[in-house]
Amino acid sequence: MLDQFGRRIDYLRISVTDKCNLRCTYCMPVGGLEWIPKPELLTYEEIAEVVRQMAGVGLTRVRLTGGEPLIRRDLPKLVEMIAAVPQIRDIALSTNAILLPESAEELKAAGVQRINVSLDTLRPDRFEEIARRPRRFFDDTLDGLAAAEGAGFSPIKINTVMLRGLNDDEFAAFAALTRTRPWHVRFIELMPVGENLHLADRFISADEMLERVAELGGLEPVSGPIGNGPARYFQYGDAPGTVGVITPLSHNYCDRCNRVRLTADGQLRTCLFGSHQVDLKTPLRTHGNVLDAVGRALQDKQERHWLQIGTDTGSGGLAALSQVGG
Ligand code: SAM
Ligand code: SF4
Repeated sequence: MLDQFGRRIDYLRISVTDKCNLRCTYCMPVGGLEWIPKPELLTYEEIAEVVRQMAGVGLTRVRLTGGEPLIRRDLPKLVEMIAAVPQIRDIALSTNAILLPESAEELKAAGVQRINVSLDTLRPDRFEEIARRPRRFFDDTLDGLAAAEGAGFSPIKINTVMLRGLNDDEFAAFAALTRTRPWHVRFIELMPVGENLHLADRFISADEMLERVAELGGLEPVSGPIGNGPARYFQYGDAPGTVGVITPLSHNYCDRCNRVRLTADGQLRTCLFGSHQVDLKTPLRTHGNVLDAVGRALQDKQERHWLQIGTDTGSGGLAALSQVGG
């Protein structure tokens, strides 16, 4: 699959639900959003069919995301269906880890190879402020990380959205984690969308994050763990983990873009931001073939995103990343 600029697309991020058991302040309003009605959600069979057809023209990697993917019932079944597609050689999962204690082993057995966990603070009191759910969910997250490790997932990446005055005094604490755990902590810039513009003055650029990581001392640039995405990584001497910075806004990496996204209601989005999407659900539910629609989508995939710091201009009217899977 090549897009109109010759970029090879081999990676699909699949949102299996727009719902979530947390309300991270930068992601979702505390009262939730208008959820996708159930009949509009793609079934697992429909999602697997999209993967099968796209795999026939070059898809090799898949990530399951949401909302929170683990709140959708029987997720390992979907993983098994995707793992049965011969061309798919990498299945990853993005999760807040809360439900991993009961599902990590099953997900591993079904074929998930890699896990990314969102964790924005190491302080239980602060978790309530950021994720806006009781602190027992914080304990569940840590149990979930332990369960992922216990089930043998490697690498485990931790995504931390850094916000000024909210959690940016925890750079050192997160970096210290990588000295004892084989975890790859990645600090992420806040992406401005409709529901989080009140946080605009808390934005910390990746350059500032890199400076603040450098101030910690003793970290050397390294190539980082395997994965699909662009991040810059650093490591303490012989530490088992790494620290990374992801720079979607201040240094966009659109020229190397290798991905498209499938929303929970069957829209193929060719960029995280912007309003361009092509409906796959209707062709799936009428004649069954989605490849014409996929081809059309790739011909219109835009050259880059136009997101700017501090405004949702360029987000394409997106209210929250939970609607497209981040
Ligand atoms: N619930 C899962 C999780 O939290 O990992 C998967 C979905 S979540 C939308 C995927 C990623 O997007 C998370 O790492 C989250 O921190 C990130 N994210 C959500 N909203 C964001 C924003 N406005 N700016 C930067 N990252 C964001
Ligand atoms: Fe839920 Fe993930 Fe968004 Fe947090 S970042 S509200 S865990 S979807």
